[in-house]
Amino acid sequence: MNLVERDKKVIWHPYTQMKNALPHIPIVRGEGVYVFDENGNKYIDAVSSWWVNIHGHAHPHIAQKVSEQLNLLEHVIFAGFTHEPAVLLAERLLPLLPGKQEKVFYTDNGSTAVEVALKMCLQYWDNKQTPKTKILAFKNAYHGDTFGAMSVSGRSIFTDAFNSLLFDVEFIALPNADNIESIKKQISELKSEAACFIFEPLILGSAGMLMYEAKYLDELISTCKASNILTIADEVMTGFGRTGTYFACEKLKNKPDIFCLSKGLTGGTMPLGVTTCTNEIFEAFLSDDKLKTLYHGHSFTANPIACVASLASLDILLKDETLQNIKRIEAKHAVFLKEIKSHNKVKAIRQTGTIIAIEWETGNETSYLSNLRNLLYNYFLDKGIILRPLGNIIYILPPYIISNEDLDYVYSSIKSALDEV
Ligand SMILES: *Cc1c(COP(=O)(O)O)cnc(C)c1O
Repeated sequence: MNLVERDKKVIWHPYTQMKNALPHIPIVRGEGVYVFDENGNKYIDAVSSWWVNIHGHAHPHIAQKVSEQLNLLEHVIFAGFTHEPAVLLAERLLPLLPGKQEKVFYTDNGSTAVEVALKMCLQYWDNKQTPKTKILAFKNAYHGDTFGAMSVSGRSIFTDAFNSLLFDVEFIALPNADNIESIKKQISELKSEAACFIFEPLILGSAGMLMYEAKYLDELISTCKASNILTIADEVMTGFGRTGTYFACEKLKNKPDIFCLSKGLTGGTMPLGVTTCTNEIFEAFLSDDKLKTLYHGHSFTANPIACVASLASLDILLKDETLQNIKRIEAKHAVFLKEIKSHNKVKAIRQTGTIIAIEWETGNETSYLSNLRNLLYNYFLDKGIILRPLGNIIYILPPYIISNEDLDYVYSSIKSALDEV
């Protein structure tokens, strides 16, 4: 049996209806922006393998640091013990974050980073003996697939089977010039019940790369602060340069109390999650009363190899060359946007930083399940490009090292898809 057949026998893939799933492409190697399959075909990874791979595959600097760490210390229990990679990563990460973030809590993925953030907020109010249990979130948000993260995410086909078990959340609309005042009113009216507001800053990723303006988010955070509602920036997708700045919240005047990070954190090498907070939040858990402890942890909390991968990824991120690459992609996206925005198949097109999203005109068939999505997905695969449409929305979210030539090839393939699909 070949790898595809063996896979079919034993594997259950994520987000996949296994009844009629197409064969999964067996990848044997990665290098830079490319991954290579068993037969030597190469694919441009134009979505950074689900938004994690910011510096390209098999980056030699990350590989070297990880392999050195493997020979030194692969893992150690993180309660009662600590290690240099975890401490150093916290020391380097905290000053990079907007505002005054002072403590790092490690987990191992984006969903758990969100769970910890929610627990921090809920228990913060409980510890202060003014319990508040309501959570505010954007209507179409995506914060992960565990139950707490699902609860604060939009209700959709992804949550359908579980909706009755998800906790109640006060959903608010994406802010714009017309609705900003009514949303602010909605928030301040909940001041005595709402523990926190969790949001994806500037871009709702899984919702279809929906974008909204920093100035309105600034107003919402300001309203939350005035209403004693804690704020959580879920930068799991937007962090580490994706929006043109290191973090999306750099574009805000008001800074959130908590950050959630994952995805690009390790450069896409290892799973790792980070929840950071201010001292104000941390101090609400300091007590002689054991019940005020944050009783949360995971077996692989602060895995040293993942921390070292993150440190190596930070080395690369902070180089001038990487910032120039980010600016280069931003500028090229902007030119491409102008070129195709009046195409009759383009219903909408939007860009923030290195992300560009094109909404396909479909008449009325616009669901995630639509056939168009599969047609487009396969069309680009045939051209050697990995693009995973969100329903009728195609987006490019490339590793920062993608060359102009490869980016132009992706653009021209999208143009031909607009004419042909
Ligand atoms: C992907 C994502 C998550 C969940 O991260 P996982 O590592 O997949 O659990 C949470 N929030 C946002 C904004 C994301 O894009």
